[in-house]
Amino acid sequence: MRLAVCTAAWLQHRRWRYRNHLMIPIHEAQQTVIEACTVLPALPTACEVMNGRVLAQDVVAPENVPPFTNTAVDGYAVRAADVQSVPVVLRVVDTLAAGAAPSVAVGSGESIRIMTGAPMPQGADAVVMVEDSVREGDAHVSLGRAAKVGDGIRDAGSDVRVGETVFVAGTVLNAAGAGVLASVNARSVLAYPRARVALLSTGDELVTDGSPLRIGQIRESNLTMLDAMIAASGCDVNNLGVVRDDEAELERVLLDVVEHCDAIVTSGGVSMGDFDVVKAVLSRIAKMQWMQLAIKPAKPFAFGQLIASDGRVIPIFGLPGNPVSSMISFELLARPALRKMMGHTVDLLRPTISAVLDAPIRRKADGKVHYVRVFGGFEPDGRLHVRDTGPQGSHQLAATAMANGLAYVPDGAGLAAGDEVNVYLLG
Ligand code: AMP
Ligand code: MG
Repeated sequence: MRLAVCTAAWLQHRRWRYRNHLMIPIHEAQQTVIEACTVLPALPTACEVMNGRVLAQDVVAPENVPPFTNTAVDGYAVRAADVQSVPVVLRVVDTLAAGAAPSVAVGSGESIRIMTGAPMPQGADAVVMVEDSVREGDAHVSLGRAAKVGDGIRDAGSDVRVGETVFVAGTVLNAAGAGVLASVNARSVLAYPRARVALLSTGDELVTDGSPLRIGQIRESNLTMLDAMIAASGCDVNNLGVVRDDEAELERVLLDVVEHCDAIVTSGGVSMGDFDVVKAVLSRIAKMQWMQLAIKPAKPFAFGQLIASDGRVIPIFGLPGNPVSSMISFELLARPALRKMMGHTVDLLRPTISAVLDAPIRRKADGKVHYVRVFGGFEPDGRLHVRDTGPQGSHQLAATAMANGLAYVPDGAGLAAGDEVNVYLLG
């Protein structure tokens, strides 16, 4: 009996150990994290800040663009019928600048000097470019090129027609898109906000102020890197700096910042170390999943949710402290989830393309996919060619900084020169 109880307990223990060390494939972790993050509520947003943001409404043009028929060139507004056999001399009866309202019509044998963007005057049905004219005194112009009806004219609504749907909800606007909103007078639109991301780093060994290093100390680098990565993902960063490896201090900082952020990114303290305070504190105050990912680098990763006092569920991305691991887990897990929160529905991940490996990548079988940092470019065969950027340790950020892609090297003995390799394009 006693033996049976002992055996059951031992088996349970083995099962736990096994489960705790079961590594999660990266795509499963990505799915879990992305699914758990919810889209932020859309807000009225000024067109001036729409570059990179996602629309939460269709935009129907309330106006024509251009609002009136106008000249596309600097020249002379004419009746095309008068400019059939050239050269021909016409009387110049007025001058029209952009912004001016026409007050004089163009009659037979007449023209009006006109600047790009000015409304077409009555009577005129073509514009002859100034390059095809020779002015003859104040009152006349000689035109050297024949005109057809409509030459040099752009019609009202020829860019956007009133009532037309210019963008549908879900569109990611670029700078030109923001300009289009301004052009149709959509000064404010419903859009998903930039996520407010609180960033902190932990570790008593970290020095940020440039002072000489004492034994055991290192320069902090993840805050600088992650701040830039979070901003480049379209979020607003609240960089809280380094929090000491002190549970009470970290708990205070987290419970304070959760009230005014949409997501939290932490660096360090999520692996198996004895002073991994992030692990201790978050286990207490948040609902956490401590993951061991089947990838190298960036095996340890924590994802969790902390509830703000108003009920908002704030995702926490617990990145490992090793700089390369930090960078890769942000890139593969936090960035796509943050993009989802900001309304993106496609391209949460960056594109992966098949490339040619120009130098071998050796590795040992360990149950993990290796994300090898590579650099490359397109070559005359139309293919992307890559090779690794040097030392691949998880502390070796310098070689990682030279990479423009992550090569997906499956478990096994590695790849030979000339092999195909899938590359996740970084930026
Ligand atoms: P941790 O994840 O806290 O166990 O840290 C793993 C390794 O990364 C250790 O060698 C740390 O010193 C280093 N490390 C942790 N945080 C940072 C940081 N913010 N900047 C640079 N190195 C770090
Ligand atoms: Mg640490």
